[in-house]
Amino acid sequence: MSASWKSLAQLDAAVSKCRACPRLVRWREQVARTKRAAYADQTYWGRPVPGFGPDDASLVIVGLAPAAHGGNRTGRMFTGDRSGDVLFRALYDVGLASQPTSVHRDDGLTLRGTRITAPVHCAPPANKPTPAERDTCRHWLADELTLLRPTLKAIVVLGAFGWQALLPVLAEAGWRVPRPKPRFGHGVRITLDGPTPLHVLGSYHVSQQNTFTGRLTPEMLRAVLSEAASLSGLD
Ligand code: SF4
Repeated sequence: MSASWKSLAQLDAAVSKCRACPRLVRWREQVARTKRAAYADQTYWGRPVPGFGPDDASLVIVGLAPAAHGGNRTGRMFTGDRSGDVLFRALYDVGLASQPTSVHRDDGLTLRGTRITAPVHCAPPANKPTPAERDTCRHWLADELTLLRPTLKAIVVLGAFGWQALLPVLAEAGWRVPRPKPRFGHGVRITLDGPTPLHVLGSYHVSQQNTFTGRLTPEMLRAVLSEAASLSGLD
């Protein structure tokens, strides 16, 4: 953990220059060069994608990693892909986002008391970071949560990978994680003791695999986000 960051803006600027994972650096830059045909006229971000949202957020949403043609293209978490369409629609519906769509980092979207981030900041091949890459990236999230600690009240974790990646990060950032570690599930909620009590809620990931099959419906996602907003004083 680094206590040397003066602000989240400073941390965000630093993470977006990180080159610690050779495989992910190669992949994110290759995708940015070759592009998807539909985005051939666009300049891809092609770098680590920092967290998005205010520096005094009381609610944090933790995903998995940026998508190759979503966050890796636009430079903002969950922005410009189908997963993001589902997430931002739900955030808007429960009053946490200023607009229901998120298409580019300059589209004017703002979040209310909410920050979106991930345990892995670079797009991985097949959306699958290795355990070593997850562990290499861990300190960025630990530092981000440490900076948010004065205001942070709840975290919504999207998917089992994020859940497993987050628990050690929370321990590193000062919260007491029970053993055996609580298991992930949609609708699961735990409360951790630490610098301040912290509620951690699980939701199925907003991936197309889950939303197209109905495993995660808009109603299910809104219910988890509403509960988290209430626990964070944002309702
Ligand atoms: S995944 Fe994280 S640690 Fe690895 S290069 Fe990207 S920002 Fe750095």
